[in-house]
Amino acid sequence: MTGREVGNAASAPNVRREHEPLPLEELEWPGRAGLRLGWTLADTRVPARTARQAAEMLAAIRSLRAVVLRQVHSDRICLIDSQRGPGVALDPVGDGMITDRTDLLIGVSAADCAPLFLFADAWTAILHAGWRGVVQGILPHALELLQLRTGLGIEQMRLAIGPCIGPCCFEVSPAVASLFPASVRRLHGQRRTVDIPGAVIDQWLRCGGGMASLMRLDRCTVCSRPLMHSHRRDPGPGRNLAYLYHTPG
Ligand SMILES: [Zn+2]
Repeated sequence: MTGREVGNAASAPNVRREHEPLPLEELEWPGRAGLRLGWTLADTRVPARTARQAAEMLAAIRSLRAVVLRQVHSDRICLIDSQRGPGVALDPVGDGMITDRTDLLIGVSAADCAPLFLFADAWTAILHAGWRGVVQGILPHALELLQLRTGLGIEQMRLAIGPCIGPCCFEVSPAVASLFPASVRRLHGQRRTVDIPGAVIDQWLRCGGGMASLMRLDRCTVCSRPLMHSHRRDPGPGRNLAYLYHTPG
């Protein structure tokens, strides 16, 4: 399935909207029964709910434990390996998590950065990729780790790009724009923008990932009021929680 085929998440037939206990969108990963990914508003103002609190609520009703990263805009990736026993840090520091555990709901918070979801055989990963993370290569690093763990080639892995700021709205300085390939830079009159999902896709293809195993949810956080929070649009404490978990059976 290509990003083009998926189109806008709101119109995709496999998107499920739930209203208890949080407004959220979830979808089952096409071709991978039992693996769900989703995102929800985690606004800390009305009602008071951090990304961690939202993740814990979602995990509790599914009898899972929530692990949410303490993010530092880095390319640091935490490994949560089932062979190390049942104990787990619930707030590891870093911007990516890789795990083979199925008893966890793993999440990242993002205001305009891209949440990235990966799976390779029994392993899954979730990454927080802002422009710094993309430039630092958090996706290629995660793919390398997954290769080491699974022995699989990248052509056997799948990537989904969640809602983030789009090329319509991600205005940057010339210095930031120069860090990205020309193919993902845009000029709209005097405005200079960068296509973060496009840059992620570029890295994915360069690493050997296939277009057929890529899913891009074309939803710009700035343009998606009120469903998504955007820091660019509304500076403040709001966030979106992006998460991934396994369903039983
Ligand atoms: Zn936009």
